[in-house]
Amino acid sequence: MQIETKCLHEGYERKNGDPGALPIIQSTTYVFDSTQHIADLFNMPTECMYSRFANPTVDAVEKKIAALEGGVGAMCTTSGQAASLLSVLNLCRAGDSILAVSSLYGGTINLFAISLKKLGIECIFVDPEADGDALEAAIKPNTRLVFGETLANPALNVFDIERFAAFAHKHKIPLIVDNTFPTPILCRPFEFGADIVVHSTTKYMDGHALQGGGVIVDSGNFDWANGNFPEFTEPDESYHGVVYTREFGNMAYIIKARMQLMRDFGCYPAAHSAFLLNIGLETLAVRMERYCKNALAVAEFLDCSDDVERVSYPGLPSDPYYERAKKYLPNGCSGVISFDIKGGRDRATRFMDALKLASREVHVADIRTCVLHPASMTHRQLNDEQLAAAGIDAGMIRLSVGLENVSDIIDDIKQAFDASR
Ligand SMILES: *Cc1c(COP(=O)(O)O)cnc(C)c1O
Repeated sequence: MQIETKCLHEGYERKNGDPGALPIIQSTTYVFDSTQHIADLFNMPTECMYSRFANPTVDAVEKKIAALEGGVGAMCTTSGQAASLLSVLNLCRAGDSILAVSSLYGGTINLFAISLKKLGIECIFVDPEADGDALEAAIKPNTRLVFGETLANPALNVFDIERFAAFAHKHKIPLIVDNTFPTPILCRPFEFGADIVVHSTTKYMDGHALQGGGVIVDSGNFDWANGNFPEFTEPDESYHGVVYTREFGNMAYIIKARMQLMRDFGCYPAAHSAFLLNIGLETLAVRMERYCKNALAVAEFLDCSDDVERVSYPGLPSDPYYERAKKYLPNGCSGVISFDIKGGRDRATRFMDALKLASREVHVADIRTCVLHPASMTHRQLNDEQLAAAGIDAGMIRLSVGLENVSDIIDDIKQAFDASR
């Protein structure tokens, strides 16, 4: 099946007489004929037992997302943050470190730099364009993973997945990629060597600004038995001595995430949330195509505007990431544009307040056009140095182009430029 078809047909298998739409299985629990059947499920979790870590509606969505990314399995979470957190905790414990590029979503930087530190896990940040020597210098014997973001929110630099995958694999550790902005429609990081993908499904996947969520997807390609990950090859005392690599083969990572972390932490979405997410996924391919088309037109307009200092959109030939985007994002660069307005921070807020169609909101990848000022909102906690490392100027505006007619979007921007001068 091609990816457009997968959006509609993967995940939920309809048998004779089944509902046409994915049913919402609203139940905390599931009943079985025998004690032995349940005991067997503890050995091999092939059916749902309890909705803190598995539910049939969510399961169908997990299967669909795994198919879209080309992975062996997926696990949904209640937010993108929870997905990033669990993707790391599945590999790290106090005393370990991780290596992440500095151009990440602000919430991820917080999580890695501050909250993980409180748990005893150190994050070493590197410049995404750092040369090989600088990368080697940043790696430590206790580094358990490398983390990057395909298309960084909001700096919009394109992450060189292949280079970082080779670097991680040389050190026998996996590469985790946050693929939220491109979605699997525009980029499938596993095809370039990434091992684990995470998403905030709150964004394009949900697509209608209805509900938050996240997902972790396992490529099934990483060798967890390479000696670096004893938690995968030694008995888990919390799970009747299961050895993940032996029992679950190339599903070891995603099953461990569910049967150990989700079981213990319980940040699992409700069936109804998964139902809504599935509706978003059904039209994802069609919507991404239009987001890309609209955003490119708006980026071209901004690029020619006298009110703009600089535009970041890797689909523009003048963008420093244009060539790399041709490799990783050949079908479009998604719907988000960052630009620095002439006049700095003050003009940026005047411009934002003057918009009539585009809304001011703490969101991105909404179905409607929306704007946000990272320096005073999502990245408020970062100092100027961290802002610069994340590629953010005080006058930067993050414009999330929606699915309106593009001429209406451009007209709104024009009138707000005039009003803010
Ligand atoms: C929004 C976002 C997240 C966090 O997702 P939530 O669903 O808000 O928790 C993580 N990564 C990226 C790239 C994001 O845009």
